[in-house]
Amino acid sequence: MTPPISFTDTHVHLDAFRDDGERAAVIEAARAAGVTRLIAIGGNAVGNEIAVELSQQAHIWAAVGYDRDQTSVDRLPNRLNEWLLDPRVVAVGEIGLDYHYSPETASAQRALFEEMLEIARRHARPVVIHSREADDDTLAILRNHAPLWLGPSECPGVLHCYTGNRAFADKLLELGLMISFSGIITFRNADELRQTAPAIPDDRLLIETDSPFLAPVPHRGKKNQPAYLVAVAETVARLRGVEPAELSAITQRNTDKLFGLKERFEPLHSR
Ligand SMILES: [Zn+2]
Repeated sequence: MTPPISFTDTHVHLDAFRDDGERAAVIEAARAAGVTRLIAIGGNAVGNEIAVELSQQAHIWAAVGYDRDQTSVDRLPNRLNEWLLDPRVVAVGEIGLDYHYSPETASAQRALFEEMLEIARRHARPVVIHSREADDDTLAILRNHAPLWLGPSECPGVLHCYTGNRAFADKLLELGLMISFSGIITFRNADELRQTAPAIPDDRLLIETDSPFLAPVPHRGKKNQPAYLVAVAETVARLRGVEPAELSAITQRNTDKLFGLKERFEPLHSR
């Protein structure tokens, strides 16, 4: 029997789904579609809380951190340090810089990013990085921290929802990072991204939905959900000239390596 084609959604904001059954339905729909594992991403107080709570379920793990929109960070690291004692909390994220939405807080964002990288290093966790209109500063900060932040997994992290060009990708690859493609790769105006996707080495490639944002074609206009990762996977596979089954093998291996996951395709069970 050939194993089923399965994928991991490496970036989903599960706090964006209501606790009245919507969230459970979305998780179930993902499993039915072959998206059998989820990395629940935090990035703010509520998102972190919910990601950690959901990571107590089988096949869901959490990332916790604080990104650009945090104003009072003084007491937050204590909470992160506590959460990061839990082996189900597998990464620090999302963290990083966004000069598109919040250019006025650029210097505070840089300080927070550096603080988060330091926490990741201390807890030997990979980082999930956001970078929008801030690529030069993102690279500069990562370069400063690179020697510190190489953890035991050998891979320091991932640049999520990649929208950069080939040159930025090459620099991230030099730093040892993985690169993750979202539904943007299916968008009509994403030709440059479609040219970049085949150039990422097999051992550095990840896929994600970034739900509830950025629903891929043919689901445009709807609230994005992890089940739609299949459309991202099919597009990336086609661009790289491989079957979806091979893309599954490649990305599952990378996901395991980056986040140190052990659970694979076994049936749903409670921990
Ligand atoms: Zn995100």
